[in-house]
Amino acid sequence: MAEHESLEFGKADFVLLDDVSMDEFMENLRIRFEKGRIYTYIGEVVVSVNPYRAMNIYGRDTIEQYKGRELYERPPHLFAIADAAYKAMKRRNKDTCIVISGESGAGKTEASKYIMQYIAAITNPHQRAEVERVKNMLLKSNCVLEAFGNAKTNRNDNSSRFGKYMDINFDFKGDPIGGHISNYLLEKSRVIFQQEGERSFHSFYQSSINDSSDFKAVADAMKVIGFTGEEVHTVYKILATILHLVGLRIWFLGGIFDSDGDVTLIENGNLVPVLAELLATKQESVEKALLYRTVATGRDVIDKQHTPQEASYGRDALAKAIYDRLFCWIVGCINDIIEVKNYDARIHGKNTVIGVLDIYGFEIFQNNSFEQFCINYCNEKLQQLFIQLVLKQEQEEYQREGIPWKHIDYFNNQIIVDLVEQQHKGIFSILDEACMNVGKVTDELFLQALNSKLAKHAHYTSRKLSPTEKCLEFDRDFRIRHYAGDVTYSVVGFIDKNKDTLFQDFKRLLYNSSNPVLKAMWPEGKLSITEVTKRPLTAGTLFKTSMISLVENLASKEPYYVRCIKPNDVKSPLLFEQERCRHQVEYLGLLENVRVRRAGFAYRQTYPRFLQRYKMISQFTWPNHDLPSDREAVKRLLQGCGFEHDVAYGKTKVFIRTPRTLFTLEEQRAEM
Ligand code: ATP
Ligand code: MG
Repeated sequence: MAEHESLEFGKADFVLLDDVSMDEFMENLRIRFEKGRIYTYIGEVVVSVNPYRAMNIYGRDTIEQYKGRELYERPPHLFAIADAAYKAMKRRNKDTCIVISGESGAGKTEASKYIMQYIAAITNPHQRAEVERVKNMLLKSNCVLEAFGNAKTNRNDNSSRFGKYMDINFDFKGDPIGGHISNYLLEKSRVIFQQEGERSFHSFYQSSINDSSDFKAVADAMKVIGFTGEEVHTVYKILATILHLVGLRIWFLGGIFDSDGDVTLIENGNLVPVLAELLATKQESVEKALLYRTVATGRDVIDKQHTPQEASYGRDALAKAIYDRLFCWIVGCINDIIEVKNYDARIHGKNTVIGVLDIYGFEIFQNNSFEQFCINYCNEKLQQLFIQLVLKQEQEEYQREGIPWKHIDYFNNQIIVDLVEQQHKGIFSILDEACMNVGKVTDELFLQALNSKLAKHAHYTSRKLSPTEKCLEFDRDFRIRHYAGDVTYSVVGFIDKNKDTLFQDFKRLLYNSSNPVLKAMWPEGKLSITEVTKRPLTAGTLFKTSMISLVENLASKEPYYVRCIKPNDVKSPLLFEQERCRHQVEYLGLLENVRVRRAGFAYRQTYPRFLQRYKMISQFTWPNHDLPSDREAVKRLLQGCGFEHDVAYGKTKVFIRTPRTLFTLEEQRAEM
């Protein structure tokens, strides 16, 4: 614990509170925020409050202060956590991960960048050229990903509209030799629709006056990363294509629609040649793909004219799909460049990994749709992981080991995770079923299915089930009681967004482009209409699968947590909105975290391994002991050092309460 910090700044670790109550917790958080101490520990978890102003705490001198130090030797900082994750990786050969969570605007992305900067700064003391190259790529990739994946929203001027998990690979010397980025569900609907006051992705504005310096930074970063001139050019053509598509007006001529004479038209047809040129394809092909659909009827293949609704749907789907594909392609290019090359792995042997997760925080908007549903499900999964790792396993281990323990209650959100993801019964499954219905498929029918299957669920409500719920629309809304609060979702658009259909004609159009970069993005356009048989997986199922594997991956690593808090909704550096913050502390489970941590032990090890490491510091155990068991030997060793008050002896493991004891043991070992 950073005891050298004066108490006027509040307590550097919430574990040191006199009384673990919400009021004391909030008081400490407020004092520290107001004194410019934005980081506070709960053991090894960093609680961070967004300062909304530039802080002079990330420079080279600060980095030096944290390098190689133990957590409690310096005031709380992201750098200390980054260093702890790095040390665990290097000393103990463990894969570690840093999970950064918190709501939109709480400071996750900024934190992830500081962590990466720190790791880059403390590694590669010998300035190996290849390692420098990798570090530079990893840092530069942020700038490109933010340009294409972030946007101004009402909560955050630079809001990440995709989830990002980045692995950094290290060689046996502890230097970065590569990395890999996984991206999750980009909010692609933003290219065609933004709520009032919001914007599309930054990339669309970076040729205008205000954003032109950003434009240059992104162009430079792309160049450094290794995008070719042609590739960068294609990227801009794709952005222009989307802007034109969004402006394309569909129109129809004729009387009642399904009479023979009706024709669907493009009202501003002058855009078609522009689109054709941008996409490096023929005008007729563009027009045909927008207005007709190739369908196979038995052996025949015919062109069926779209209704205006279908054509508009197709246009929007195309704009969204092109952007999404572009984003994934950019991530893929970055991965190709930063991946650990075979020869590196061969030369440097086994490598270890630090993963950094910066994923969208919990969202409650005025109007919540499929995207918010997915994002909030993701947060439920991460909260569940936190519970499993920090609250549940910890307590179960004490019980298993027979350490006296008073159970600490917490809300277990597994029930909500199940509500969403359970096979056959969960909301994603019900949605998939609704999408597969033959005949009529509507959002309302999906809502009916939800209501009939989930009526009894404690975390689900709809107006049909509780007619008194005034704010729910009868045929439109359902509500989930999330761990972080109630969210009302409108089912409008769920079916379409889940099916995520892009007519095959568009895929063929893009595959047939004479621009090789564009063509390479659409390999499945190669298939002809009669070859396309398989129903693609739905967006919901893909997201669910990716979240399950993300959580499995995180769970296999040693986790470090950064819990970010947003102090107010007006981006003010001065305002600590008590209620707003209290709510976040509540749903992040921070108070429970303090209780478990306080009652618990910072370190544990099996008796034989403990002896293996420390037996040289005691005459009773060096070189071998003659006590009846390793347990007795460890007891004797620790008694001899005077640490009796700070330890507990379980069935198979010794538990040490404070990190300082361990630190002293390490020092004694080093002196031997
Ligand atoms: P989202 O979920 O919307 O992506 P986020 O949690 O990633 O949100 P950030 O983009 O990291 O939020 O932070 C929002 C803004 O808050 C930043 O653009 C910056 O202005 C400010 N901010 C965050 N952290 C810091 C910090 N440590 N120092 C100074 N300003 C910060
Ligand atoms: Mg972000």
